Amino acid sequence: MRRPPPERLVLLGHPVAHSRSPQMHNAALAAAGIRARYEALDVAPEQLDSTVRDLVRQGAAGNVTIPHKERMYDACATLSPIARRVGAVNTWWVDDGGLSGDNTDVGGLHEAVRRLFDVATIPPNLKVGLLGAGGAAAAVVAAVESWPSATVRVHNRTGARARALCERFGAFAQSTDDARALAETDLLVNATSIGMRDDATPFDVATLRDGARVLDLVYRRGGTPLVRAARARGLAAADGLAMLVEQAALAFERWFGIAPDRPTMWHAAEDA
Ligand code: NAP
Repeated sequence: MRRPPPERLVLLGHPVAHSRSPQMHNAALAAAGIRARYEALDVAPEQLDSTVRDLVRQGAAGNVTIPHKERMYDACATLSPIARRVGAVNTWWVDDGGLSGDNTDVGGLHEAVRRLFDVATIPPNLKVGLLGAGGAAAAVVAAVESWPSATVRVHNRTGARARALCERFGAFAQSTDDARALAETDLLVNATSIGMRDDATPFDVATLRDGARVLDLVYRRGGTPLVRAARARGLAAADGLAMLVEQAALAFERWFGIAPDRPTMWHAAEDA
């Protein structure tokens, strides 16, 4: 059974000061008339366990980000099926069974792809090319698994991580040491942090076929280098804002059982 709605919402990360989640959630809480506050808390890995114990005692809820998503997964007594599939938690709350965890990055990714293709449901037989093999990449592979007859090729700087990620899933996910193998895809997804603070692009978009679409999970004011390059090449491309807003909206629904005002969250994320 669920406890009363949380009054304290906490994002645990390290570092965490750059996060837009407090602005998004506090705007949505105000719009819904809910008397709760969302704050970002910088917690070093060695402080995570004691901080979580305190927050559980307080009946708090919240999110987790780098580098705590896997540790939080281990700490949860109850996990959603999708969190189990990804092996990481980004959303948590307390119920009578203790700490519960979910992964709303996957739902966020679905929404971002639906928007990019401008469709209500993901089209069948999508060939996905994925750059990266960290937590965000695992959420992408878990999303692809649920799409009809979709496949994904994963390339990562550290090839062993891409191989390990694909082995956890199944034949629909194949790793490759050659980034050029991703050129023949319908959808290229960047789940590396390249382009967050630098002007580098993680992939040469000139090699993509006409009609390919590009989704960069990185979000940056003014557009990411990859999105700019893809659009200049005439391809449909989007950054990580839609995923960011939707994962937050789904987390809000887990905590309060009601949908937040998504446009309010969207504007707050853009303004943050
Ligand atoms: P992570 O677990 O730390 O993984 C980082 C990934 O980036 C790894 O695959 C890493 O490769 C790769 N990488 C980092 N620097 C690189 C470089 N210089 N050259 C090549 N590859 C490099 O992080 P994460 O949680 O997966 O997040 C990845 C990105 O997705 C971040 O930019 C994050 O902001 C974004 N993200 C966005 C959303 C959203 O809602 N839009 C949600 C989650 C994450 P190695 O394995 O070789 O180190």
